[in-house]
Amino acid sequence: MRLFTTLYLLLLGYIIAAMLFWGISLEKQSVMIYEQQRESLLEHVDPEDTPDAYQQSLEYLEQRKRSRTRQYISEGITSLLVILTGAAVVYTSFRRSMLLSRQQHNFMLSVTHELKSPIAAMKLNLQTLEKYDLDEEKRNLLLERCIVESNRLNELCNNMLIASQMEGRQYVAANELLDLSVLTEEAVLAYSIRYPGRFTSHITTGISFTGDRLLLQMAINNLLENTVKYTPPETPVEVSLRKRANSLVLKVADQGAGIPDHEKKRIFGKFYRIGNENTRKTKGTGLGLYLTRIIIRQYGGQIIVKDNKPVGSVFEIILPVQ
Ligand code: ADP
Repeated sequence: MRLFTTLYLLLLGYIIAAMLFWGISLEKQSVMIYEQQRESLLEHVDPEDTPDAYQQSLEYLEQRKRSRTRQYISEGITSLLVILTGAAVVYTSFRRSMLLSRQQHNFMLSVTHELKSPIAAMKLNLQTLEKYDLDEEKRNLLLERCIVESNRLNELCNNMLIASQMEGRQYVAANELLDLSVLTEEAVLAYSIRYPGRFTSHITTGISFTGDRLLLQMAINNLLENTVKYTPPETPVEVSLRKRANSLVLKVADQGAGIPDHEKKRIFGKFYRIGNENTRKTKGTGLGLYLTRIIIRQYGGQIIVKDNKPVGSVFEIILPVQ
């Protein structure tokens, strides 16, 4: 990419230098033409005998020279603008496609890991159950772990499937009257069972919303899952759902490392993950927030991220009151 940028800038520099060179050459030629025309004027018109006629012809020649100069400059500037605009379009689309292909490569690496690790964990748990005659408590623990892993797998498959269906406009969203308060409460409860003591919620009861249960559940779960993935264990997470003027506001506030300002917009991009594969500790696909934003926008809402005080981030889903 750096080599391409350097070569591209060199080529652009060459084109601009060539245009300047041609502009200067044309101007020199124009001056030469003017001088020749003036000499031939002197041969035909005597400035002392007919000063008025000579002056008039000379002014005409100077006017022609100025108009030639104006023509070179305006045509040169127009061509330069066309070249620079074209160059900018080519450069940005090349950069975008390079970035997307790198993100897709990362996505494939992450997906392979995300699919393989729950399968491996489930296999190990099931083999242990098969091999040893464990007491009921241990058996239940292993079975519980299998369920957690299969839920993870299920969430990942749902994210991938729905993202591709929504992009292809093939997903037919249901329109049912839902109790958003109950939906949020249930999602928080599921996480509280998995991570006891970490989640607290302040949910206004009886908030209804017409939409697709699966999509809204995915949007909420993606935010909750991220708080677990990107914050130190044991740190608290607060979830709230409230009515504010003409909106419903669902807030998920954590006390993790937070998200730097320059990354706040990017994290909603497809396959986008902060950092790179070597420095990231947590695996993921970069689809969660992308999908969440598509879902929320579909309902005319928006999702934003702010800094939490003193540390962490706050994700806010704002939906219009229907
Ligand atoms: P994934 O979790 O699969 O990487 P997401 O789209 O859910 O994909 O998140 C994109 C990126 O945003 C993550 O890779 C992570 O770097 C960052 N991120 C998301 N949520 C949080 C959070 N609560 N705290 C810090 N970083 C976060």
